[in-house]
Amino acid sequence: MKAIVVNGPHSPLELVDRQIPVPLGPEEEVIRVLACGVCHSDLHVADGDFGGPYPVVLGHEVVGEHPELGRVLLYAPWGCGRPECRQCSSGLEMICPNGREAGIVSDGGYSEYMRVPRRDYLIPIGDMDPASAAPLACGGLTAFRAVKRALPHLQGKNSRAIVIGAGGLGQFAIQFLKALTNTELTVVDTSAEKLDAARSLGADLTCGADGLTGKYDAVIDFVGADATMAAAASSIDRQGIIIVVGLWGGRIDFGVGVLPSEAVLTTSIWGSLDELKELLEFAQNHPLQHTVEPIPLDQAQHAHDLLRSGGIKGRAVLVMG
Ligand SMILES: [Zn+2]
Ligand SMILES: [Zn+2]
Repeated sequence: MKAIVVNGPHSPLELVDRQIPVPLGPEEEVIRVLACGVCHSDLHVADGDFGGPYPVVLGHEVVGEHPELGRVLLYAPWGCGRPECRQCSSGLEMICPNGREAGIVSDGGYSEYMRVPRRDYLIPIGDMDPASAAPLACGGLTAFRAVKRALPHLQGKNSRAIVIGAGGLGQFAIQFLKALTNTELTVVDTSAEKLDAARSLGADLTCGADGLTGKYDAVIDFVGADATMAAAASSIDRQGIIIVVGLWGGRIDFGVGVLPSEAVLTTSIWGSLDELKELLEFAQNHPLQHTVEPIPLDQAQHAHDLLRSGGIKGRAVLVMG
């Protein structure tokens, strides 16, 4: 079978011919991959930012075919699964300190077949289109968890929320917030084209970071740079929540009197298996608008180059031959 591997930090992606995997234990499953999204995190793995191991097959937004379950979406943030692990035993595998994430630590879906440790990581999706469903596994799920964590702060009358960054994740978040709350939603981006997209998805107001006025109950920052986090800090209300998702590595000052009283700061990481199931149910009742660009598996390097240069609208999704 064909697979795309990263052999080490900053080395080009390599197309290799491998044996089709077989289950190694009674719990394991093998799926035939139908589609696999290309996520910004894949670029970080290829660059060595997450530290290996190598070689590794990339890809954590996977739709596959299982002999009994049919078409399935893969839950990829695999944890250690040990009963003594506090995160795994409470269903928060994506923040397990010894995670075995597919496509990051374990071999993932840039491949014609892949091995999966447990059957319950495979969620049947009926006849959903594989390429359209794949980005739900990371892009969709990450935005869904972040929005769910903002919800308790958006229950009051006249609540106000900000989404910073109207790329793929931000566009999912807009749709979730509009479906799940009555909040007044402002979307911040530097791109006029993305702000147009945000309005068409239901954003009430759009602006640059300098256009924010007054105080807000929740800010979800899909960029996470110094400037966007500073905008979040200066806009948050007392007891509001700032949720940072983006990987830009920004920082802000924190302390009593530095931020409004009892403002909550948190990061938000990917999502749980239960949240992915909930998201799929949500997607069946609220068809989500998002753009996918199918690219053949053996052009994975090209997909990465396009993503790096900003040449992908929506999500690039590798499709198998
Ligand atoms: Zn991802
Ligand atoms: Zn664990």
